[in-house]
Amino acid sequence: MYMNLFDSHVHSDNSHDGEHSITFLCENAQQKGLMGLCITDHYELNLNTDQADICLRNSFIETGRARHAFDQRLLVLNGIEMGQAIQNLEKANALLRKYRFDFVIGSLHCDRRMDDYAYVDFSDLDAELILQHYYEDMLELCQWGQFDSLAHLTYPLRYITGKYHIQIDMKQYEELIREILRTLAQKNLGLEINTAGLRKEIGQTAPTLEYVKLFCELGGEILTFGSDAHRVQDLGAGLDTAFDMAKEAGFSYFAFYKKREPRMLKLI
Ligand SMILES: [Zn+2]
Ligand SMILES: [Zn+2]
Repeated sequence: MYMNLFDSHVHSDNSHDGEHSITFLCENAQQKGLMGLCITDHYELNLNTDQADICLRNSFIETGRARHAFDQRLLVLNGIEMGQAIQNLEKANALLRKYRFDFVIGSLHCDRRMDDYAYVDFSDLDAELILQHYYEDMLELCQWGQFDSLAHLTYPLRYITGKYHIQIDMKQYEELIREILRTLAQKNLGLEINTAGLRKEIGQTAPTLEYVKLFCELGGEILTFGSDAHRVQDLGAGLDTAFDMAKEAGFSYFAFYKKREPRMLKLI
C-alpha cells in the first residue's frame, strides 16, 4: 500500500448503516498505516429527523475526542456526508453554519420521487429515466455547490447494473455529466473517487477512469479518495486503485480537506 493515503469517506456507528465506533476505526486506520481519515457520517436532508440531529452531534463530538487522542499518530478529521441537500437547502445551510466541519461531501442517494436507490427494486422500472432525474438533480446540487467534494458520481449503477444487471448506455447522459464536472471545476470543488464498488457486484469505482479523465480535461484540479467504509474491514480499501487511477487520468495531486480547505498531496 502507498504511504500517504488518506481516507476521506468513512462511516461510524453514528450512521444508521455503520458498524464500528470512531475509536475502533481510528485504531484500525493506524494499524493499516493510513496517514489519516475523515469521519463522514450520513445526514440525509430529505429525512431530517431528530434522530439524525442527535447522530450528527455524537459523530462530531466523538471525532473531536479521537482527534486529540490520536494526535501526532493519525490525522482524524470531522466531516459529513450530506445526502440530498437540494431537497432541504434551509436545513443544509443551517448545519453548515452550526458545525465547523473539516470536510463536506455532497451526495445523492435518491431523487425527489423515490427511496434510496439501494432499496429500490429496479426490475420493472425505467432505469434510464431514473438516471436522467438523478443527473438533473446532481447538476442542481453542484450549482448550489456548498460542499467540498462530490461523492460517487455513478452511485445508482451500483444497483441498476451491479445488482439488477440492467445495462445502460451512458452516452445519453454525457452532456449532463459534462456540465456537472464543468460546474465542479469552475467552482473549484472536488470530485471523489469512491472505491466501495470494488467490493460490490459492479466491481468498479464510482466514477470510473473515463469520468476522472474528463474532469481533468475540463479543468478539475481536486480529487478526493474515499473507501466509503461502514466497518473497519473496509477502511482504506481500494485507495491504492484510486491513487493509480488519478495518476492515469492526468492528475499530479490528490486532496483531503481540513477546515474546508483542500490539502494537496503528491501522487508519487
Ligand atoms: Zn453515499
Ligand atoms: Zn458514504
